[in-house]
Amino acid sequence: MIIVMKPGCSQEDVSHVAHLVRERGLKDMVIVGTDRTVVAAIGDERLCDMTAIESAPMVDKLVPILAPYKAASREVKPTPSVIPIGAGVEVGGRKLCVIAGPCSVENEKQILTIAHAVKNAGAHALRGGAFKPRTNPYEFKGLGEDGLKLLAKARAETGLPVITEVMSIDQVPLVADYADVLQIGTRNMHNFNLLVAAGRTGKPVLLKRGWSATLAEFLLAAEYIMNEGNPNVILCERGIRTHETYVRNTLALGIIPAIKRESHLPIIIDPSQGTGHAYMVPSMSRAAIAAGADGLIIEVHSDPEHAMTDGAQSITPQVFAETMAQLALIAAAVGRAAK
Ligand code: PEP
Ligand code: MN
Repeated sequence: MIIVMKPGCSQEDVSHVAHLVRERGLKDMVIVGTDRTVVAAIGDERLCDMTAIESAPMVDKLVPILAPYKAASREVKPTPSVIPIGAGVEVGGRKLCVIAGPCSVENEKQILTIAHAVKNAGAHALRGGAFKPRTNPYEFKGLGEDGLKLLAKARAETGLPVITEVMSIDQVPLVADYADVLQIGTRNMHNFNLLVAAGRTGKPVLLKRGWSATLAEFLLAAEYIMNEGNPNVILCERGIRTHETYVRNTLALGIIPAIKRESHLPIIIDPSQGTGHAYMVPSMSRAAIAAGADGLIIEVHSDPEHAMTDGAQSITPQVFAETMAQLALIAAAVGRAAK
């Protein structure tokens, strides 16, 4: 932390601030410049409240130097993390991880048909919501445990690990019983008690960015999971709320290089929630891999016109297969592999 003093501050003001720094267990270093005097606080400032120093006389502003996140930060772990998600599949290594499947599990025929189709097209894992967070309470909210059973059946038939959303703390043991990866949705990124409960299962967690969360808030949410002794966090950008109307959300692909710089955790992209339109999904998938994403989570439905949720943004198995073929070329161009 650097504490910048106001112009015209006295020696006494500076000494007082230096005292406040020492009082917090940190070392102080006063640097007198031509225009300004600053006090550098040296040590781990995350362990004490530094912000109160702003109220001391003649303090202009506080400039943090260390990122507030610790376990998730690259300062602490410079090498990228590789997260195993079951059946030999990993996220964050040289090989991409493409997760595909319907928005919601609807019935046995639907999930098994889609699971086999995405597997044949080269998907590495299967998605499907059994508990669906719906903005509109009158819409389909998922099959619940029956949906989880169908996902387990699809895993048994295809060998694909299964990713599904957990919406509340009381659902955690049940969902963890069936799923290989727990998905925490955008609406729950700030649900800190749920993050803790998911972290305690030890299962890999796919954490979606809150639609109005900053990068720092996103990584601090990951920190909640990791602080439970669970390092297996996969970050997922799924678009943020902006003024735009031609998309459902604005897919902020710039977060990929930013996360790679700030954190060792893998980041994947959800171009389906991220755009809201099937026609945009292949190009945004290509762009994400070109920009260095570790994988994708894509909504695929064999009958999008009759999908119970998110049909407008679901691509068909055929489009998914074409996209996978294109992704293999892009992956090779950026030093990654799709298979
Ligand atoms: C989903 O993946 O279907 C979903 C509801 O995601 P999000 O939490 O990103 O809206
Ligand atoms: Mn969806």
